[in-house]
Amino acid sequence: MPDLTGKTALVTGASRGIGRSVAQRLAADGALVAVHYGTNEAAANETVATIQKSGGDAFAVRAELGVDGDVDALFAGLESGLDGRPLDILVNNAAIIDYDATIEKVTPAAYDRQFAVNVRAPLFITQRALPLMRDGGRIINVSSGVTWFATPEITYAMTKGALNVFGRSLAQSLGGRGITVNTVSPGITETDMNGWLRDPQATQHVAGMIALGRHGQPADVGDAVAFFASADARWITGQVLEVNGGLLLG
Ligand code: NDP
Repeated sequence: MPDLTGKTALVTGASRGIGRSVAQRLAADGALVAVHYGTNEAAANETVATIQKSGGDAFAVRAELGVDGDVDALFAGLESGLDGRPLDILVNNAAIIDYDATIEKVTPAAYDRQFAVNVRAPLFITQRALPLMRDGGRIINVSSGVTWFATPEITYAMTKGALNVFGRSLAQSLGGRGITVNTVSPGITETDMNGWLRDPQATQHVAGMIALGRHGQPADVGDAVAFFASADARWITGQVLEVNGGLLLG
């Protein structure tokens, strides 16, 4: 198991779903993890509690993203929890999907909201994180397979396309500091975002689209993120990894 002892990590959207698994895995690997959340304090505290119960170290940080002052609020909590320590790993995971934002129904306000949470926030969180980061750090963005397969949620897909582009250019900009930037692109994963997967018929249908014959679990993605955070991934930057069990291979 990779050794992140002495390292620190910020995982956005770590109260639930994929972010929670990322936080749990990075903490299990030895990092002190800032568990960011927007509103669900109970879920964030549960993430922290599970980490601490397993012998890891974590603290919760609240900040609603996509609103004025979001980055200030996040870094006030982060820096207080880090207590002078630098940041080694940033995982831009938090995002929203608006199932009504189809080409027929999307409004300018809905468009702006999705881009504010899914693109603007990761950009400015990264900008603010960089002075805190040690050289040799790791940035991992969580994108989506909707960047390469079509979906009715067109603005959500556009935000994730922007995130992929962000990662590539950022990797070039930060190479001189030895900071790697990679993107993990999950397929269909069982989280609150995909409540429709609780329907057994949907589960069966999805399984038929995936070479490994099932939909993803948050830990399937968390482990991939942990790889990019580890020393083993030192020579990989600017890449997008599809983590989807072989979705729509043919
Ligand atoms: P969930 O909806 O399960 O969890 C979302 C997390 O993000 C929560 O921690 C939530 O905090 C936080 N969050 C959401 N909006 C905001 C906001 N405005 N401000 C602050 N925090 C916010 O999502 P998933 O785990 O499913 O998704 C994680 C990532 O994976 C996302 O980037 C998503 O796009 C991507 N992804 C997911 C797939 C899937 O199948 N699930 C597939 C492909 C990509 P709180 O608990 O406080 O609400």
